[in-house]
Amino acid sequence: MEQYPERRIASADQISMLARLLAPARRIVAFTGAGISTESGIPDYRGPGGVWASGAPPTLDDFLRGEEMRRAYWERRRVNYPELASRHPNRAHRMLARLERAGRLSGVVTQNIDGLHQKAGHNPDRVIELHGSAHHVRCMTCGTIWDADVIQQRLERDPGVPECERCGGVLRTTTVLFGEPMPAAPLRRAVDLARSCDVMLVIGSSLVVQPAAQVPLVAQQAGARLALVNRESTPLDPLAELVIAADAGPTLAAVERLLFENGLQPGGWQTGQK
Ligand code: NAD
Repeated sequence: MEQYPERRIASADQISMLARLLAPARRIVAFTGAGISTESGIPDYRGPGGVWASGAPPTLDDFLRGEEMRRAYWERRRVNYPELASRHPNRAHRMLARLERAGRLSGVVTQNIDGLHQKAGHNPDRVIELHGSAHHVRCMTCGTIWDADVIQQRLERDPGVPECERCGGVLRTTTVLFGEPMPAAPLRRAVDLARSCDVMLVIGSSLVVQPAAQVPLVAQQAGARLALVNRESTPLDPLAELVIAADAGPTLAAVERLLFENGLQPGGWQTGQK
């Protein structure tokens, strides 16, 4: 599905400014949204091909309303999951993973459910998924977590509404549905991380989904430098030191080149680390 056919390219000045902002940082935290994954072929919510373009996304009420709704939920899932699972991280995901390997990134707080940060090579403990994961399925009765591939294999053999093999309970993915509160534990961890970072780098989020959008605000209020890379303006633009309205992949790939390959080393930036 085509995403944002026209490209938005950052200027050389913007790329240099972002590299200079990141170079001396020791505890960068990235806050990411659906926009970081559009270049991997996963639509965001509001852009072309996104869920809002084809009607409102499913709600918790829809899911709880009964067997028919759950059947529709699992059928959508059976058809769509293989496509999601086949997607690969893009240059923006890979740049963040490289920052982590260089010891400069203390964590990623993501609203995404696609698992692409982990696929890019992050330590999974450093990725906080505020809205859950499409790769895990939970029993609403006994709480057992199942790998999504296991459930997918069952669905392909036997389409319908899968039950928990342990207790017969109702299964759903660990993703947060509309109308459902965000789990408290990941939000608390994200806020702690935000309070202790020196740079908060927001990538591909409209920053309108609450309370997730509070996380970069907490960082900025605690004294972190705030930089945003997003195709469109966001409510936090006025608070940011740097706003780049451009595509994340090419922007972060260019910043990565400056940081790691062209010898920009303020504060002892180590070059050559892959
Ligand atoms: P959003 O759809 O509200 O906003 C995405 C933003 O990214 C938009 O402002 C858009 O202009 C920008 N964008 C799109 N492509 C970009 C690119 N290549 N480079 C830079 N910016 C780009 O997404 P959100 O803020 O994450 O909030 C919506 C909710 O959607 C979240 O709760 C998330 O859980 C869910 N969601 C996740 C996925 C995923 O896991 N990949 C996909 C769709 C929706």
